[in-house]
Amino acid sequence: MTLTRGERFIQSLKDGRSIWLDGKRLDDVTGHPAFRGTLRTLKHLFDTLDNKDVREQVGFWNPATNAYAHSSFLVPASKADLQKRRVAFAYWANETYGVMSRLSDYARSLVTGWYASRHEFASFDPHFDEKITRYYEEARDKDLFLTTALLDPQIDRSKSPSEQQHPDAVLRIVKETEDGVVVRGAKMVATAGPYCHDFLIFPYYRLKENEQQYAHLLIVPANLPGLHIICRESFASLQDDNHPLSAKYEEMDAVLLFDDVLVPWERVLLKGSAQGIWELRMNETANALAFHQTVVRLLAKLEFVAGVSFAVADSIGASGFLHVQEKLGELVTQVESIKALLLASEIQARRNDAGTVLPALSPIETARNLGTRYYPRAIEILQQIGAGGFMQVPSTLGELDGPLANLMKTCYAGKQIDAEHKVRLFKLAWDLVGSPLGSRHELYERFYAGDPVRTYANQYLYADKSELTGLMRNFRQTHAAREEGLHESDNAGPALSYTPQ
Ligand SMILES: Cc1cc2nc3c(=O)[nH]c(=O)nc-3n(C[C@H](O)[C@H](O)[C@H](O)COP(=O)(O)OP(=O)(O)OC[C@H]3O[C@@H](n4cnc5c(N)ncnc54)[C@H](O)[C@@H]3O)c2cc1C
Repeated sequence: MTLTRGERFIQSLKDGRSIWLDGKRLDDVTGHPAFRGTLRTLKHLFDTLDNKDVREQVGFWNPATNAYAHSSFLVPASKADLQKRRVAFAYWANETYGVMSRLSDYARSLVTGWYASRHEFASFDPHFDEKITRYYEEARDKDLFLTTALLDPQIDRSKSPSEQQHPDAVLRIVKETEDGVVVRGAKMVATAGPYCHDFLIFPYYRLKENEQQYAHLLIVPANLPGLHIICRESFASLQDDNHPLSAKYEEMDAVLLFDDVLVPWERVLLKGSAQGIWELRMNETANALAFHQTVVRLLAKLEFVAGVSFAVADSIGASGFLHVQEKLGELVTQVESIKALLLASEIQARRNDAGTVLPALSPIETARNLGTRYYPRAIEILQQIGAGGFMQVPSTLGELDGPLANLMKTCYAGKQIDAEHKVRLFKLAWDLVGSPLGSRHELYERFYAGDPVRTYANQYLYADKSELTGLMRNFRQTHAAREEGLHESDNAGPALSYTPQ
């Protein structure tokens, strides 16, 4: 029997990986209730590449496999290719209402970007070119699901990796063998860790020159012996009616513990150069392609929250109040602003020396920074509108048909909406504003792109400031010239008289 692409994905996760949840090692992630709903969603998304009505939207024809590959692997050679990538990101994002953010298209785009700019890293490792080419093709042709784990564990942020009290805390290379490097230590946070195929591991912050043992790009298979994937508490719900988002879209976050893991040489793409790793981290091709995806996904989520907020306001007859309209208008401005920045990034796209067409980074960075403030504000607005209504819901929908049905259906109804639909709406909204999943999402949007304090500061530090400071210089010069002109005319004779009207 031929398996669908989604079924193959699910089967591939039964590979002996070491996943820990609630203090126990899971034998099989695919059968566990904490992952069931999410994996069902992922299976559906994988299957879109085989669906003849959809595959042209999410993928491109890949002659190597005689099948479609996901467009996150498309190296854009034109603006049309860039738009094709956006359409694919938007399709998966809209299928999950922007709630699932690590569908692998971000990490796959990093790989695509490194592959497209592989010649830039030859001076740091002469094998980079062949290794990334092989990996890119493997990931593309086998539909590998990837995620990133970039941060060191949060132990003492006032110290760099080499200054941490315990040398084994932060992931580092402890030994080299004929077969590869042996690594020890931890990385966080790997969203989707328990059900990904490979982890992209590299340091997020710039390292000091003497910190070479932490300077590496590793692509680590999830089932390597000695690698333990430690899950946080699950926020998955088995009650679709009560928690419609938590039941389908819970993306597990994990910490990776490396207990002397042997990473084979073909998966050690760079090592031993703090400068090389920093150039990889700041690589424009990879960042532009991957960050582009994050903005598409953010837009889908802001649109969803706006839509839910409009419905909540209507359902309680609040959308006629001026201050509610002002808040709903703010949600519209959020959506329109992100949409405009996304389009701006594509309109200003340019071809680099390698022939890759990249979206402009400045509008993308702006959208990502705005997202860290827009999303928490959107959630706050939804709370302000729904107010106590979030508590005017029975614990289960079934109660509306219970012994108190008549009374409850009367009291739980809204303005032109019956009790069942209103309760369903408020349960959905609660999954955004109040459930564990909802809280995790607010945290995610604040931080997934990095510490917002430093990402905003970076936007200032890396901005081309010449145009703006030029304006100020122009002003001073023009002003000085005018002053001079005035003084000259003072000397030339009496000023023209001016009579107020
Ligand atoms: C839900 C969620 C999912 C995530 N998923 C992923 C993922 O899939 N892959 C991945 O790689 N990462 C992921 N991340 C991690 C994310 O990249 C980090 O949270 C983010 O970079 C901030 O780092 P931190 O959490 O270690 O915070 P810290 O850097 O520890 O910051 C904590 C506080 O200290 C301050 N601070 C710390 N150091 C400094 C400093 N040097 N200067 C000024 N202020 C400082 C910060 O401003 C902040 O207020 C995820 C995070 C979350 C919350």
